[in-house]
Amino acid sequence: MLTSCVHCGFCLEVCPTYQLSGDENNSPRGRLRLWRKEAEGQLPPDPWTVAYTQDCVGCLACESACPANVPYGEILEQTRHAHVAAGRTQAPFKLRVAAALAARPWLFNLAMTPARLLRRWGVLPHRFLFAGQPATTQSTASYAQQLMLQHRPTGPRVALLTGCLMEAVFREINFATVRVLIENNVQVFVPRDQGCCGAMQEHLGLDGVDRLRDQNRKAFNALNVDCVVCNSSGCGLALGKSLKGECASVLEHSAIGRSDCGAISDTQNPNPVPVRDVLDFLGEQKLVQRNRPQNKARVYVDLPCHLIHGQKLAGIPNSVLDATGYQWELAPQARDCCGSGGVYNLQQPENAKEILARKSAFLNDAIGDPVILATSNHVCMMQWNSARSSGLVTRPYSVQHVIQLLDPLAKK
Ligand code: SF4
Ligand code: SF4
Repeated sequence: MLTSCVHCGFCLEVCPTYQLSGDENNSPRGRLRLWRKEAEGQLPPDPWTVAYTQDCVGCLACESACPANVPYGEILEQTRHAHVAAGRTQAPFKLRVAAALAARPWLFNLAMTPARLLRRWGVLPHRFLFAGQPATTQSTASYAQQLMLQHRPTGPRVALLTGCLMEAVFREINFATVRVLIENNVQVFVPRDQGCCGAMQEHLGLDGVDRLRDQNRKAFNALNVDCVVCNSSGCGLALGKSLKGECASVLEHSAIGRSDCGAISDTQNPNPVPVRDVLDFLGEQKLVQRNRPQNKARVYVDLPCHLIHGQKLAGIPNSVLDATGYQWELAPQARDCCGSGGVYNLQQPENAKEILARKSAFLNDAIGDPVILATSNHVCMMQWNSARSSGLVTRPYSVQHVIQLLDPLAKK
């Protein structure tokens, strides 16, 4: 994979870390060269290589720009894992605890009960927490079952990935997703034995991703549904890999006695259930339209990197955005990274803030009353929310998931 780069440099201008630093080693081409030189033994294992690897947001904009189809995301994933496995770096203790909890949904949901309560009460002690009304005790699975019995939709059958952080902290977005799907005659099933998608473990280079992928393969591939829908683009990308049966890491394979990923084909599923972004899926349905004739609000839509560069979708369908009833437009630089990068904004907060500063400045002068920044990934929502407390945006604005703008229970 490392030899597929032809050094053309087309990726440089889309890379946020190269744009910030102007340092070739902090670009996709530079990182690929460092990793290759190490792999070929021309460069000794070097702390700078680890530092440049950690500086990468993982936005995958370089994949979209690359004419040689270099699988940068896959190489990055393997390299992060290799650095951790070799003891060259380690994720911070707090994040390792968070990843361990995220892999145990019932425990994570329990541990995050105070966060749900604080959000309900409007107490937002962390810059990433945005306001919302998550259910304190009822799960999305139970809510979906209740609504299915009440409304008995007859259309397409989908399973919903509820996610770890989404279910534990931002559950109201899952509830809104269920309401919108059922209102549009979609049958929704929420398997209770599903697990975390493994994206967080992947970002941190931790072991255990294959176990999580296995769990989700069992939970979703056995269902009689048309597709699995995800309301978080990063989780959707990770779940897609799981259901296809891709392995997480060469090293996890070698640890169990396999020397290369040729072994992946042993576990590949020839008929995986397709994984779809929920908004992309809704773009193909005849949607109930929201009507907001007197509303002076303006919605600025930002496109998550893992939606457009990871899942390779063109964006959020216009028909879905029109159905919200709001006046909307794409945010300036909507296709650029906001700096969230999974846990990047916790690991590299200064870089993340600088990347966000470039994108968020427009909100200070944006037209609308109120101004709503809408996107479709909870980690991007958290990052956009932090623009307020970081002092990047000084005027009032709210951050919402696009699915919440379609919600039949949302205020007019
Ligand atoms: S994933 Fe994003 S930050 Fe990393 S090298 Fe590619 S474009 Fe740059
Ligand atoms: S665009 Fe692709 S081939 Fe060209 S330098 Fe970047 S990674 Fe290498």
